[in-house]
Amino acid sequence: MNTQKPVIIILGPQGSGKGTQGKKLAAKLGLPYLETGQLLRDEIASGSDHGKYLGSIVDKGQLLSDDDINNFMKDKVRFAANNGQGFILDGYPRRHGQAEFVDSIIKPTHVLLIDIPDEESVRRLSARRQCPKDKRIYNLITAPPKQDEVCDDCGTKLEQRVDDTPVAIQKRLNLYHTDTEPVLAWYKEQGVLHRIDGTHSIDEVEKAVGEIFNK
Ligand code: AMP
Repeated sequence: MNTQKPVIIILGPQGSGKGTQGKKLAAKLGLPYLETGQLLRDEIASGSDHGKYLGSIVDKGQLLSDDDINNFMKDKVRFAANNGQGFILDGYPRRHGQAEFVDSIIKPTHVLLIDIPDEESVRRLSARRQCPKDKRIYNLITAPPKQDEVCDDCGTKLEQRVDDTPVAIQKRLNLYHTDTEPVLAWYKEQGVLHRIDGTHSIDEVEKAVGEIFNK
């Protein structure tokens, strides 16, 4: 009997809903959830010297170097791997050098690609807003707040991420195609890649993701 707990990597173009689906899946399977982009934004918001350095790259919509992101994620991934309960990694690894680094710590059992076309990424990200206080994410088109641009939970004015401008979005999409697609091909060769059409509703995508783990 295979007793290995799921080690899930969730990837997809910006705005594909991987964060939304990753959190739902983590709750459903009872797994820790490591959201790389949010962990980085928390470090940046802490005002630490390292956070300032990370912010100087992330805020421009550029990817961190493999060394920088591997060092940032190393202890978090090792801790989750040693825990032995399985875990979900969102947004990491995105480049081949990162994927090899993760492989040296633990082999993923599932890689989920939530896929959407570029035009849909730009459309969704331009409408994305986040509560700076409790980090809840809204979308003015698909998941708007009840009241004009304020958080439903705490009433704080919603903000747009500094890297959600059209120029920064396009830059990140280009990087996704050149850097992350080869990683997906590599996982496909290993037989662990599952592609999910992310253009459907949140509930439909959740169902498609759930089916992979119901088998
Ligand atoms: P996200 O919230 O996933 O869009 O990530 C926000 C930003 O964090 C990215 O635009 C990058 O600057 C940085 N980042 C997140 N994950 C990675 C990664 N795997 N490799 C390099 N940079 C990353």
